[in-house]
Amino acid sequence: MSPKRPAIDWFRITASLLVCAIHTSPLTSFTADGDFWLTRVLARVAVPFFFLTTGYFLSQSGWTNAPHFLKKTGLLSLLSILLYLPLNIYAHQIGSIPDVLRALCFDGTFYHLWYFPAVLLGVLICLLLLRGGRRFAFAAAALLYLIGLGGDSYYGLFASFPAGRAFYNALFHVFSYTRNGLFFAPLFLLLGGLAKKRSAGFSFALFLFSLCGMSAEVFLLRANGLPRHDSMTLLLPVCTFFLFTFLLSVNAGQDRMARRFSAAFFVVHPWCIVLVRGLAKGTGTSSLFVENSLGHFAAVVVLTSVASFTWAVLRPDKPRQDDRAWREIDTSALRANARLLAKLAGPKCRLMAVLKADGYGHGSVLCARVLHHAGVRDIAVATLTEGIRLRRAGVRGTILILGYTAPEEAELLVRYRLTQAVVDEDYAMRLASQGWHVHVHVAVDTGMRRIGVKVSDMEAFHRLYRLPCLRFTGLFSHLCAANLADSRSESFTDGQIAAFLGLASRLRREGYPVGQIHLLASAGLLRIAPLPCDLARPGLALFGVWETQEERKSALPLRPVLSLHARVASVRTLNPGEHAGYGLAFEAVRPTVIATISIGYGDGLPRRLGENGGAVLIHGTRAPIAGRICMDQLLADVTDIGTVRNGEIVTLIGRDGAETITAEEVAGRCGTITNELLAGLSGRLGLMVRKEKAGP
Ligand SMILES: *Cc1c(COP(=O)(O)O)cnc(C)c1O
Repeated sequence: MSPKRPAIDWFRITASLLVCAIHTSPLTSFTADGDFWLTRVLARVAVPFFFLTTGYFLSQSGWTNAPHFLKKTGLLSLLSILLYLPLNIYAHQIGSIPDVLRALCFDGTFYHLWYFPAVLLGVLICLLLLRGGRRFAFAAAALLYLIGLGGDSYYGLFASFPAGRAFYNALFHVFSYTRNGLFFAPLFLLLGGLAKKRSAGFSFALFLFSLCGMSAEVFLLRANGLPRHDSMTLLLPVCTFFLFTFLLSVNAGQDRMARRFSAAFFVVHPWCIVLVRGLAKGTGTSSLFVENSLGHFAAVVVLTSVASFTWAVLRPDKPRQDDRAWREIDTSALRANARLLAKLAGPKCRLMAVLKADGYGHGSVLCARVLHHAGVRDIAVATLTEGIRLRRAGVRGTILILGYTAPEEAELLVRYRLTQAVVDEDYAMRLASQGWHVHVHVAVDTGMRRIGVKVSDMEAFHRLYRLPCLRFTGLFSHLCAANLADSRSESFTDGQIAAFLGLASRLRREGYPVGQIHLLASAGLLRIAPLPCDLARPGLALFGVWETQEERKSALPLRPVLSLHARVASVRTLNPGEHAGYGLAFEAVRPTVIATISIGYGDGLPRRLGENGGAVLIHGTRAPIAGRICMDQLLADVTDIGTVRNGEIVTLIGRDGAETITAEEVAGRCGTITNELLAGLSGRLGLMVRKEKAGP
């Protein structure tokens, strides 16, 4: 293994220092030409380097990361604008509305902040251009760059023609420079996508060679008085491309601290320039820290470094969700299932998504958000804390708590606008006596004998609806044999349905505020719907999962939403006769390669799976689980799979190549139903949204 040498992340710090040099001209006190070379030639590689890096990583994901990148960078841009607002105000820099718009879209609101609109717009333009294919995108970006060049350091050449001058004058009505997201950024972003690891020496030589060429170019341009600005040259793309290729070729690993530090450095250094000037003036040290250009540069770097380092330490990165073991959620499958079930429920009936037990292990907040966008406005959970969690995450609409909440918590029910199920008459009285106006749905016992007021006890309903404080907004019951097709179960279910609907009509006739009525969960929805109800309460079916393998054979094309993955932690070889795991439960009968996989029953994977023929998928092939599953790890026999490496991704539930392990299969092997398996998945598992495969 090569030692960790995160060259790209380390160079980010150099690049930030170079940007700072552009803004402080460190060598002016000593050599004007030297400073010109440093700040107008060498330091000009810094910003293109950032673009190339962005383009490289975005193209690695097939540009599917672009929305995430735009969101994150947009946020950082907004923060930076706010950070410099006091300086804008102090310097009376708030101009007219067109000026502000120009600053926001192209020029930036402070001198270095042009970078953010440039990278945001640049990425958008690349996405657009890539629709026409790579070649087209590249040609178009190169053309844009050439146009930009004519408004930058080659301006004099074009301005000598009336048509050229008119063209650029028109452009400069819209933005102050051509160094922006339209002309400057796209070429570098796309070049980043072209970069590959190559011979480091060769790349470095080409970098030096083109840097010399670029130096000659810049000095020649200056001598001929051509530049209007000095950000773009003909050789800059060549020079920075080879610089990046060199860094990529020697790069090993990453340094997230360096990333955070350099980003902070870039954002705050102009503030530090202002502060250094102010402090030097206040302390009478201007000759050392302002007039001496190197002293000034050093002071700014030290102050900026302290601020950036503090920031980077105080706000460390969150660990990645896919670092060890994680659930991956296919949000488009969730939406498709919801559409399918809504159709089954009938036109008058809406879905109330049941997201108890953290959305059957799928992440209730994530699922609630996705379903909200798919038009599902009602949610049911099992407990008060589950309801509060959704509300605090900003989930709107009705949230019904299906299970018991201590009546003393009535205040919290009201505070979080949660609707509580009335478990029985005694519960209703205790809840009403708290004096809070709680919204409730009345549970009806139609034969399950679990919770609810008995359906035939009309007197109890009469007393219930007369209780003070409670706001009755719904009435519901639950079927307990809807998944069974034998005649006894079917007639029992029919009886439950008839009794519930009969009760609802009778209460309505008698003028009680019954509210919304609902009865069917997944099994009922799949077999019985539509019914004349206002809501249906599917849980499991939303997640594209059936209780058992048998039911999976149904014709309804529900799509599984969850897959479960973990990383290979270690690989080792056993000689015949050697054992592995707790209780020496595995014995090698041949030379055996064992992979240790970083997931266990502490993550909700049932321990019995190992004993009952369970397997995992690696490289699209089944590898049997070896011996007993541990709390945090399991062993798999990967002898027949070829070379398995540490850190590789293993699938516990889901698809890998042509092979699939379904949740139904795992549950079946463990003698349980998928509901129990999924609800048991631990919150310590990471949660990822599955990336859409499409994209340029
Ligand atoms: C869990 C639950 C549901 C959802 O059941 P599924 O079979 O997962 O669709 C609906 N209603 C009540 C009362 C529940 O407890």
